[in-house]
Amino acid sequence: MQITIARAKVNRPKPAPASLGFGRIFTDNMFIMDYTTEKGWYDPRIVPYAPFSLEPAAMVFHYAQEVFEGLKAYRREDGKVQLFRPTANIKRMRDSCERLCIPPVDDAIYLDALKTLVETEIDWVPSAPDTSLYLRPFIIATEPHVGVHASNRYIFAIIASPVGAYYAEGLNPVKIYVEAKDVRAVKGGMGFAKTGGNYAATLKAGETAGQNGFSQVLWLDGVQRKYIEEVGSMNVFFKFGDEVATPALQGSILPGVTRDSCLKILRSWNMTVNERTIDVDELKNCSEAWGSGTAAVISPIGEIVYNGSRIIINEGKIGETTQKLYDYLTGIQWGKIPDPFGWTEPVNS
Ligand SMILES: *Cc1c(COP(=O)(O)O)cnc(C)c1O
Repeated sequence: MQITIARAKVNRPKPAPASLGFGRIFTDNMFIMDYTTEKGWYDPRIVPYAPFSLEPAAMVFHYAQEVFEGLKAYRREDGKVQLFRPTANIKRMRDSCERLCIPPVDDAIYLDALKTLVETEIDWVPSAPDTSLYLRPFIIATEPHVGVHASNRYIFAIIASPVGAYYAEGLNPVKIYVEAKDVRAVKGGMGFAKTGGNYAATLKAGETAGQNGFSQVLWLDGVQRKYIEEVGSMNVFFKFGDEVATPALQGSILPGVTRDSCLKILRSWNMTVNERTIDVDELKNCSEAWGSGTAAVISPIGEIVYNGSRIIINEGKIGETTQKLYDYLTGIQWGKIPDPFGWTEPVNS
């Protein structure tokens, strides 16, 4: 399928790198494709970034039939732009679609859409240190029907946002709060799918944590409320002695691309790495902790508060493995060091 390009006539000024922040500024154009049961996915196109016109009865507004993704395009020092593991995001969206009864997008068209959008917006890929172009693909159910069933119409869109560092404070260890009452997801639910509904369930605990000076919530399992799941929009890793451990994928946590990249890198360094059950009571023994996710890449954790008790990790400083992993992974992403895993995908030549 050929992507038609009808780009914006006027290009908006590019923001100064220092003012980027995360996810508030969008580029001039976006990618869109439509779906109906009769036609399947059709009319892939680049069009100016603009509001959608949807019926108030569009099913996404009522039943949250929606999936999304998040990945970045990075500008190398030689000026070329590359995507990081886009096929992993494409595969994950397929799994999310399956869970939410959304018809999947063809893998080849999806990759073409990502590359074509980034090529169209190439001047929007920033070059200052730690900046990138964040891509947000998503699918929403648009059939106008107040009635519970899978929609027969959808929009697949990709928008792009130039971003600076995720945390305004920089790579400083964050404080996280272990939520003991609310749960994010349970096995059999949608925890493994990247869908807005999972986030709606987390807003309340996130607000309370924010009001108390924490930047993220650490979620426990929904049944026993004692096993670690993940942190906000990140997976989580702990170092115990010589072992690095992260919660196993058991259906209730999101299978992060950054998580998988951390595991592969750590194993390539011959470190002892386990995907296993981690009891919240083990955290007092950890010597390092970090979150992993596309937005922040690696986010060191300096303090965890659980049931009123405070655990300070590595004196609140970034740990050695955390720093090494951050340097190596971001080195590959920004093309500063060789990519032995074949994870980067060039966009322009
Ligand atoms: C997207 C996401 C992650 C991180 O996944 P990456 O592919 O590494 O960006 C972790 N947890 C949740 C809930 C997420 O939505």
